[in-house]
Amino acid sequence: MPLIIKDEYPEKLFRKDGKRLDGREINELRPIKMDVGVIKNADGSAYLEWGNNKIIAAVYGPREVHPHHLAKPDRGILRVFYRMATFSVFDRKRPAPGRREKEISMIIADCIEPLLFLELYPGTSFEVFIEVMDADGGTRCASTTVAALALADAGVPMKSLVSAVAVGKIDGKIIVDLSGIEDKAGDADLPIAITWYNEEISLLQFDGNMDLEEMNKFLDLAYEALKNIHQIQLDTLKSKYVKLQEETSNPNHKNDNKGE
Ligand code: UDP
Repeated sequence: MPLIIKDEYPEKLFRKDGKRLDGREINELRPIKMDVGVIKNADGSAYLEWGNNKIIAAVYGPREVHPHHLAKPDRGILRVFYRMATFSVFDRKRPAPGRREKEISMIIADCIEPLLFLELYPGTSFEVFIEVMDADGGTRCASTTVAALALADAGVPMKSLVSAVAVGKIDGKIIVDLSGIEDKAGDADLPIAITWYNEEISLLQFDGNMDLEEMNKFLDLAYEALKNIHQIQLDTLKSKYVKLQEETSNPNHKNDNKGE
């Protein structure tokens, strides 16, 4: 992978053959790989590789609220902690959570809260810890997607999953799933999330310029990409249960687990 020095972005973000620098078509997602149940000590967890992004989410709850004064007598609370590791970006990131991390934690919580039945869990909390280990553009969308998967893995009752992706504009062309370079050097960036139980937009941020016609194209492109991301989330969850079923139906599985 060529080394990109800070602030030295390529002038052109499309190759001569019309493809993007990483060889993708304008509507093509980066490769996505997901897994669940990756953290033994959490109630639920998930791992996501999305292009060069590597992100883990771990969920605890429902459990006692700390500090106690945050507890609500009539409902549970959701707390989300998005953090980027110091080694996750080209520059050393300061270890203390900054304003950006607090903002992203808040928007992820806003995307997830409508999915939960918090009114059924008075006085308790659900906590979602998200660690970005490698970052390359679109981490808020990837983190929202993997956080939902970790909650489902924890068996938390949910109305549906939520999926997120960023669409953007470069040289007048609308593209889906911006990489880090495209995010920084492009003309517009629009992270968007959909909650699937009602197909409503639960995140829409916007940085750049676009007209109404372009906005409609952005939304169409995002919707197609989000359907694919949602399918990968569902397949990942299903594969966990298929694996469990195979293990329990295999008469030797107890012996297999004894490490003998
Ligand atoms: N980034 C970075 N240093 C930082 C914050 C972000 O290098 O302190 C990079 C990282 O690759 C991130 C990208 O810039 O994915 C875009 O950041 P943005 O704030 O737009 O959020 P994201 O696209 O990750 O949701």
